[in-house]
Amino acid sequence: MSNLKFAPGRRAPFFKDVADEKWFDWRWQMSHRLNTLGELADVLELTESEKKALGAKSLFRVDVTPYFASLIDPKDPYDPIRAQVIPTDREMVPFQSMMEDSLAEDRHSPVPGLVHRYPDRVLMLVTTQCASYCRYCTRSRIVGDPTQTFSRKEFEAQIDYLERTPQVRDVLLSGGDPLTLAPKLFEEIISRLRAIPHIEIVRIGSRVPVFLPMRVTDELCDMLGKYHPIWMNIHVNHPNEITEELAQACDKLSRAGVPLGNQSVLLAGVNDSVHIQRKLVQDLVRMRVRPYYLYQCDLVEGSGHFRTSVAKGIEIIEGLRGHTSGYAVPTYIIDGPGGGGKIPVMPNYLISMAPGKAVLRNYEGYITTYTEPDDYNPHAVAPLEAQIEQRPEPGQSGVHGLLQGQEMFIKPANFDDVHNRGGGMHRLRADETKWKPLGIGSAPDLIEGESNAPPAQLPSGEA
Ligand SMILES: *Cc1c(COP(=O)(O)O)cnc(C)c1O
Repeated sequence: MSNLKFAPGRRAPFFKDVADEKWFDWRWQMSHRLNTLGELADVLELTESEKKALGAKSLFRVDVTPYFASLIDPKDPYDPIRAQVIPTDREMVPFQSMMEDSLAEDRHSPVPGLVHRYPDRVLMLVTTQCASYCRYCTRSRIVGDPTQTFSRKEFEAQIDYLERTPQVRDVLLSGGDPLTLAPKLFEEIISRLRAIPHIEIVRIGSRVPVFLPMRVTDELCDMLGKYHPIWMNIHVNHPNEITEELAQACDKLSRAGVPLGNQSVLLAGVNDSVHIQRKLVQDLVRMRVRPYYLYQCDLVEGSGHFRTSVAKGIEIIEGLRGHTSGYAVPTYIIDGPGGGGKIPVMPNYLISMAPGKAVLRNYEGYITTYTEPDDYNPHAVAPLEAQIEQRPEPGQSGVHGLLQGQEMFIKPANFDDVHNRGGGMHRLRADETKWKPLGIGSAPDLIEGESNAPPAQLPSGEA
C-alpha cells in the first residue's frame, strides 16, 4: 500500500452492530440503502425542511448508502455531505431559466441513451440507477426511475450507431452510474465497445468509489485491466468525502492502470469557498486523482438553491492557480444551457497585446511583457489523409475553422434574411475584371507540399 493517511469512514451508531463482512460488502450496502423518512431519521436528526421534502410526492428519488450516510454529522443541518443527498423543501422551489433538460441532451441523441454532442466522442447512458442520488443531478429527468433500467434493445442500437460512426474515438460510459450494473453486464458493455476498432478509449464516469468504495474489488480492477485504455472520472465535492476507504479504492484503480480524474460541481453551502476547494484538490492529488473539471451548477429543476454566481467560480480558480500545484487546478466549466456544450471560464491573465508584444499578469499581480519573435513562420502541417477520410467533422469546425480559413463567418440562423434589405439591387454594375474575390479557402501555407513556405504575397493590382 501507499503511505496515504486519511481518516477511515465512520459508522453511524445505528449500524454499530453490523458485522464487517456485511459492511464492507457492496451488495449489502446497496440493499440497505436509506430512502424513507423513517430510515433516515434512524441515522440523522432530520430538520423540518427535510421532513417536508421526504414526505412530498413526485420528489426526485432518494437513496443513500449506509456508508455515505455515516459520513454525515447527524446533528449538523449544514453538513456538506448531507446537503448533497438529503432533500429539503428548497428543492421544490422553481427559478428563472430552470429547465428539465438544460444541456439539450435529448436533442443530441441519435439513438436512445447515446448523446453525440462533440465531433469525436459520445456519452453513453447505460443505466438510470446510481448508488446514491445527488440532489442537484443534471439528469434527474431520467435518473432514478426504476422502470427505466438497462435495455438490451437500446444497447444494441447504441452499438450499431457506434459501429457505423467512425469519427467516434472516445466513449464515455455514464448514466446513472455504470458501476451499479451487474458485473457481468458491465464487462459485456466494455468488451463490446473494445471490439469496435475505431473506438480508442473508453471512459467511465462514476460516483460509486465515493458512495460505495467497497464496489472497487480486485475482480473489478482485474476486469478493467483487460480492456485498456480505460480512464475514469470520479465525483468528489468536499474533503469530508475523502476517507481511507475511498483512498484505497483509488489506489487499486490506479494500480490497475486506470488514470483517475475528478469532476466536481460548485455547490452553494457545500464547497463554494476557496479554502474548501484548496483542501479538496490537494487531497485528491494525494490520492493520485487529477482534478479535471469544476462545473457550474446546471439550470436544472431542483437545483436552484445549490447555484452560485459565476464570480464565485472565477474567485476559486484565482485562489488555486499559482497558489498550489498545477496538477491540482481543475478547469472551471459552464455547460452551455440549451446545448452549447462545455465552455471553460477563468480569470483573465492576458492583459493586453500589440503587434509583437503580449502583456500578462500572474497570480501575484506581477505584470510582465512577452516579446514575440518578429521572424516567426508558422509550421503548418496539412491533416493526414486518413483523418480527413475517417474523421469528418461536419459543421463542427467552429472558431478553429475560422482561423484555418475554412469559413469566414459564423452566423446565427436567418442572419442573411434578417439583414437583407435589398441593397444588392443598387450596386453599381462593376466590370467583371475590376474586382475579384480571392476566396477564403485554406491558408496558402496549408496547401500540401507547401508547408513551411514563406507566406504568400497578396496579389497587388490585378490578380
Ligand atoms: C462532458 C461530455 C463529454 C466529454 O467531454 P470532455 O470535455 O471530452 O470531457 C462528451 N459528451 C457529452 C454529451 C458531454 O456532456
